[in-house]
Amino acid sequence: MSKITKWDSMEVLHESKNLPIYPHKAKLQRAVKDNSFLVVTGETGSGKTTQLPQYLHQAGFWRDGKIGVTQPRRVAAITVAQRVSEEMHCSLGREVGYQVRFDDCTSEDTVVKYMTDGCLLREILTDPVLSQYSVIILDEVHERSLNTDILLGLLKQTVSSTDEACKGRSLPLKVVVMSATLETDKLSVFLGGCPVFTIPGRSFPVICRFGCAIGEKDTESTVYVKEVVKMALDVHTGEPAGDILVFLTGQSEIEKACDILYEKAESIDYRYDVQDGKVEGLLILPLYGSMPTDQQKQIFQPPPPGIRKCVVATNIAATSLTINGIKYIVDSGFVKQLNHNSRVSMDILEVVPISKSEAQQRAGRAGRTSPGKCFRIYNQEFWEKCMPDYTVPEIQRTSLTSVILTLKCLGVHDVIRFPYLDRPEERFIMEALKQLYQCDAIDRRGKVTALGELMVEFPLPPGLTRALLQAASLGCEDLLLPVAAMLSVENIFIRPGHPEKQKEADKKHRLLAEQAGGCNDFTILLSVFEKCKASDHPSAWCKNHFIHWRALKSAFSVETQLREILVRLQKKRDFPMEKFDGNKSELFRRCLCTGYFTNVARRSVGKVFCTMDGHGSMVHIHPSSTLFDQEAQLDWVIFHDVLVTSRVYLRTVCPIRYDWVKDLLPKLHEVDVYELSSVARQEVTDEEMAKWDSKESAKRQAGVSVEET
Ligand code: ADP
Ligand code: MG
Repeated sequence: MSKITKWDSMEVLHESKNLPIYPHKAKLQRAVKDNSFLVVTGETGSGKTTQLPQYLHQAGFWRDGKIGVTQPRRVAAITVAQRVSEEMHCSLGREVGYQVRFDDCTSEDTVVKYMTDGCLLREILTDPVLSQYSVIILDEVHERSLNTDILLGLLKQTVSSTDEACKGRSLPLKVVVMSATLETDKLSVFLGGCPVFTIPGRSFPVICRFGCAIGEKDTESTVYVKEVVKMALDVHTGEPAGDILVFLTGQSEIEKACDILYEKAESIDYRYDVQDGKVEGLLILPLYGSMPTDQQKQIFQPPPPGIRKCVVATNIAATSLTINGIKYIVDSGFVKQLNHNSRVSMDILEVVPISKSEAQQRAGRAGRTSPGKCFRIYNQEFWEKCMPDYTVPEIQRTSLTSVILTLKCLGVHDVIRFPYLDRPEERFIMEALKQLYQCDAIDRRGKVTALGELMVEFPLPPGLTRALLQAASLGCEDLLLPVAAMLSVENIFIRPGHPEKQKEADKKHRLLAEQAGGCNDFTILLSVFEKCKASDHPSAWCKNHFIHWRALKSAFSVETQLREILVRLQKKRDFPMEKFDGNKSELFRRCLCTGYFTNVARRSVGKVFCTMDGHGSMVHIHPSSTLFDQEAQLDWVIFHDVLVTSRVYLRTVCPIRYDWVKDLLPKLHEVDVYELSSVARQEVTDEEMAKWDSKESAKRQAGVSVEET
């Protein structure tokens, strides 16, 4: 796949010998041979991610098993694998490959495998001792992603426990933990006092300037996008040659910023407006997770002579990817982060101020090869009052439901005393146990059920998996598989910036909704999927209907993969089968209820709904929903997702009947989470279980009588 000319490959070789890691090659190879655990630390850009796996390959580790490298972000896994395959002169997917959720680019020949931390976690489920690998490199550990944190604990257990756990391995597994910054002592202590290998850094001073625009209350994207663009243009016109890296929050903000930048840059008169006569143009490049990979490659190429490159990126450019030639940083001060929201008991992507350490990391990107400058759009007050010192690890701020099911399936019953690098709050563990119990993945002893064992096989959120499995047991998986796939890819509806085009798009989308029966957002997803698939020219169909063709293409592939998992499970196990007599629409919505009854709301007055999860939050239907403005006709609804601003908005909504959830709703309240967790700590006797059973039934009876009165 990769085409490298001789000249190119010589250049690549030359470049990699210049990296700070290169002089330490032999020592690093030795250190990995001599230790079970090794922590490697060094400045970002020193060559850890791209070089160390190659050094271990050269040292012959691949003969004993694959060299696996994990990344918290899928783009990083893909781009780095691409780069390393070029450096090793092989085509991607052969000796060097990658695997991310729903995209496996490896083969039997693959010996250096980059993958997301989530993928390795799934692999442990089928092969707990990782018998395919000689070395596992956990990369970007400083990011403290949930999956990497869990992997740390699991690998600590696997490697430290003697032979019993290592059955199935001929040689002991080597684990290398790589981190860009700090915390290396803590990591070393966690891993039993293993050695820390520090790659001496090479960084130049970066001058940081605060702006005056953004204060405490300016979290509106229109404000910071405009400010960031203004700052980037000031740098372009006022500063000497050197590339610019702009940190923004997400795809839509980045696209918006690039559009405005492009427009403004057009009107620059380079004879008068630009200070440095050598700068004759601006090349604007976006960089975010769901971008096509060929477009991402452009980011790394040096700009043509006289042209200044300006990359507008998410946090991915902070540590995961290093772009050469950056001399100026423009920092928005914000990041999009997944946080647990207790108001709605869900994880929500929200825009929050970055931490001070994150801001320093961003600034540092300007000083890799020469002194640089960092322009912050926020003021000193914002820095002091709004920005925390450090970013809270994901394990302490997001839902643990999926990982706890994984742990339980791996035989870790005591999920409270699992070796966490930083312990999550016990209430988060309880919340996860409760959710697993509610969707029948664990029983009241906290043990994984047969259903839970099926659920863990799907790389989907538990509620969605539960609905899918319900559909499969009723023989109507064809209704749910496309929906699950559509909910796993980026937003499929295009809403152009231009007002006229926007109207046209809205009209087309409304038409699609009408054709789908206009009744609920899940059915629309199903209908778009089916219509596009049946079309002779799917890409043209998408264009005509303002639908993202790329997203739909991914949805087709995801659907196929989910179907493969389902078929495999149906062959392997006794699959529960049930019967249902009713129409298709009811069948579809009832399946959804089985998974989403935790996300149920009832209309209270006017357009306001009230959730049933015990918080009783007041919520509204989002304008993007086909049910928006039809609230008066609704009573009960379930929803897939929420958007939280000053209000809580429900997105992807479906009307249901109370009858369908009546028997499920008591589950939201009846469960005593301490029962679920106390089982984790000690094996429960049957006597105790019997006591609980009687308590439970008493409670249930009480519940019924309340309802009857
Ligand atoms: P670290 O992991 O220590 O942060 P990396 O191994 O990611 O360092 O990067 C080392 C060097 O390789 C950097 O100079 C970076 O610019 C370069 N590099 C990494 N990926 C690519 C790529 N896809 N194309 C071009 N250069 C790359
Ligand atoms: Mg790296």
